[in-house]
Amino acid sequence: MSDTPQLVYFFGQGRADGTAAMKDLLGGKGAGLAEMTNLGIPVPPGFTIPANLCIAYLESRQFPPRLAGQVEQALQRLETATGRIFGAADNPLLVSVRSGAALSMPGMMNTILNLGLNDTTVEGLARRSGNPSFAWDSYRRFVQMYGHVVCGVDGDAFEALIQDRLAACGVSRDIDLPVDEVRALVAGFRELIASRGTSPFPDRPMDQLWGAIAAVFESWHTRRARDYRELHGIPDTLGTAVNVMAMVFGNSGEDSATGVAFSRNPSTGTSELYGEFLVNAQGEDVVSGARTPQPLAALGQVMPEAYRQLEQVARTLERHFRDVQDLEFTVERGRLYMLQTRRAQLTGQAAVRIACDMVDEGLISEEEAVARIPPDDLNQLLHPTLAPDAELELLTTGLPASPGAASGTAVFDADRAEALGRQGEAVILVRRETSPDDFHGMVAARAILTARGGMTSHAAVVARGMGKPCVAGAQEVSVTEPGDACQVNGRRLAEGDWLTVDGTTGRIYAGRAELVTPEVGPDFQRLLGWADRFRNLRVRVNADTPADAHRGRDFGAEGIGLCRTEHMFFEEDWISWVRQVILTDSQKTRDQALARLLPEQRADFEGIFEAMAGLPVTVRLLDPPLHEFLPKEEKQLAQLAEQMEIDPATVADKAEALAEFNPMLGHRGCRLGLTTPEIYDMQVEAITRAACGLKARGIDARPEIMVPLVGSVNEMIRLRERTSAVVERVKSELGVEIEIPIGTMIEVPRAALVADKLAEHADFFSFGTNDLTQMTFGYSRDDAGRFLPDYVESGILPFDPFERLDAEGVGQLVEMAASRGRQRRRDLKLGICGEHGGEPNSISFFESCGLDYVSCSPYRVPVAR
Ligand code: PEP
Ligand code: MG
Repeated sequence: MSDTPQLVYFFGQGRADGTAAMKDLLGGKGAGLAEMTNLGIPVPPGFTIPANLCIAYLESRQFPPRLAGQVEQALQRLETATGRIFGAADNPLLVSVRSGAALSMPGMMNTILNLGLNDTTVEGLARRSGNPSFAWDSYRRFVQMYGHVVCGVDGDAFEALIQDRLAACGVSRDIDLPVDEVRALVAGFRELIASRGTSPFPDRPMDQLWGAIAAVFESWHTRRARDYRELHGIPDTLGTAVNVMAMVFGNSGEDSATGVAFSRNPSTGTSELYGEFLVNAQGEDVVSGARTPQPLAALGQVMPEAYRQLEQVARTLERHFRDVQDLEFTVERGRLYMLQTRRAQLTGQAAVRIACDMVDEGLISEEEAVARIPPDDLNQLLHPTLAPDAELELLTTGLPASPGAASGTAVFDADRAEALGRQGEAVILVRRETSPDDFHGMVAARAILTARGGMTSHAAVVARGMGKPCVAGAQEVSVTEPGDACQVNGRRLAEGDWLTVDGTTGRIYAGRAELVTPEVGPDFQRLLGWADRFRNLRVRVNADTPADAHRGRDFGAEGIGLCRTEHMFFEEDWISWVRQVILTDSQKTRDQALARLLPEQRADFEGIFEAMAGLPVTVRLLDPPLHEFLPKEEKQLAQLAEQMEIDPATVADKAEALAEFNPMLGHRGCRLGLTTPEIYDMQVEAITRAACGLKARGIDARPEIMVPLVGSVNEMIRLRERTSAVVERVKSELGVEIEIPIGTMIEVPRAALVADKLAEHADFFSFGTNDLTQMTFGYSRDDAGRFLPDYVESGILPFDPFERLDAEGVGQLVEMAASRGRQRRRDLKLGICGEHGGEPNSISFFESCGLDYVSCSPYRVPVAR
């Protein structure tokens, strides 16, 4: 061996140069091919050019000097292995060139098949195979793919030429075209490339190969690849490997086929070989959705031996990798070849079921099972379904490609979907079939509907990965592209028309539907039970109604971390009493209004405390900006004036005087509690009475009282004193002994800075990271939506800080407040109740800060657990 670095890794014969462990270098596909080779599974011979060369190439647009020599040697080895010669007129070796990064990026990168064909070698292939149709079909595909991927000609231009030919010949499938027509098509393709391509179509196979390798490297930088990486947090520095593999032909006749298989059902998790295939076809046909494939079980009838072998391979690979495998295979004249193995993307439902089954089968441990479920996957299990009694007009049915239901308005173009989605509109992307170029539109859509394609079509795979509902292959939907409408069974659906897509059943309905969230099944509970054993953080729910409290408890919440009390005040019957408290100058009017509110609040709290019996409930005293309470309409003013027995103009003047320029930073939270203390007094009394009343009935109510928006120690000192006094008064009046901790939110940056002082007067801190983010960045929560998407897209911010905690900035305040608070008071309880409490990345950060619990909305509780 020389010291020359190895730039090419051979597989498919003897022992491969690589192994599964070399994924970073060889990419998932290359590493999988090497591992399959080493397991003795039939893989066509080939070689991998590693991913580190991709990044080097993209920097210099040059290949390393020794690569050419090593590629030539590898090609010679391929020639020996196959008995064919690359570029030979007589018996040509053809190869496929595919990308493959370390992390799976389905459909994101480009593939070229049948490379090595030209006007001469195609004749050799025709003679050798005795099948000119097959040879010309292969050539046609190659020129088309190469023309699109390497020479940059729009894919639709080729499709248009094909459609013309099909129409002229009166046939519907490309494989039914006579050979002479295919020849003419190839000539037409080559003319198209010559006139519109960014580079000419090369005749020499060696030039074809280098063009293809460069194109694979370049595709790392395409918009769709970057979008995908951004969504999935895949680093740009990874690069993609290139796999060059001897072609095997699934399109060599009726004894040949190609398909995809999963070692278990990726949609439901059932333990069965699952997938689809096409006879006499190449891989593209299955994934592109151009022809609708057959379910894999049917392969058992048409090619029983190959099917049996495939089952065996799937079992071997699943046991070896101890995970569900997603396989690509080709049968060439009855012989099975494996082209790819990788970890399957599963729906949340399948992931949970399979994790439990694999624990039962002794394949993985409980801890591994928990670690395997991406938290976001659980979201899918909790996705809405159609309300059972929803009365909807069924339009048509397609394949149930990704579960869950959604309603939205139809859009027929990815850019449009993105633009409307950004404006907050619920849209459903309707396409004939999707391609990676539609990715940004799929991200923006609530659901995806395609007229063509199978369960493994691009639309299906990508939607499942994103946990979005998708119905694919809805044949009765006819979409003309480009366009702004479609026809379904003779009915026209235009942009803006509402429709409902149920990805669990494959049904498409007209109009908008009521949705419900499903019950959580036993596997899910089992898995969460294991998760509970392995976690340190407690999980609470943000709930301000008994119904939400029950739901949170059912999902496993261990208390309420934030009970917002204002919703009760906004109810139609009560809002005017609240307005009186705020607007009146008369103590009598105020007392009367508060007296009306007290029993209501108390009843509300009783319901919530009872639902959470035995578990803590953190009740936050009134918080929202003042303007939300002020009357705005004539009718409200008139009603209020009548109740208060004063002139409407006086009420209007008073309301106007209280109006603020910036209510979010205005007379809000504890500031209002200090200037109109009777409101908090009433709330504290209601809490204490509710708790004492329940206690007397033997129900273990555990309220905690939380003061919002504190920024200075004196606010806390005064409010704590006043709160304690009310609690004590009510307790002694009712003769009930109960411990009610009093704490503060940390949501103003200054509170974090003086956390040590605050800790002297607070029994607990709860981080209000919504406001803390707003005030730390200085971005208004209500207006940031106008520029944050641009900020994220252009890379100014790596993500939306209202969704995921900005650990670098806001996180410093959390860390500091936690540690300063605990230094002063070791038993200080710490929690977080902002929206970040249900976001997986943020939760890890909170755990690292030593917080005791996170609190989030009910449906996110399982994710947090
Ligand atoms: C917060 O600010 O994080 C919080 C929980 O309070 P709200 O969202 O009600 O302002
Ligand atoms: Mg807040």
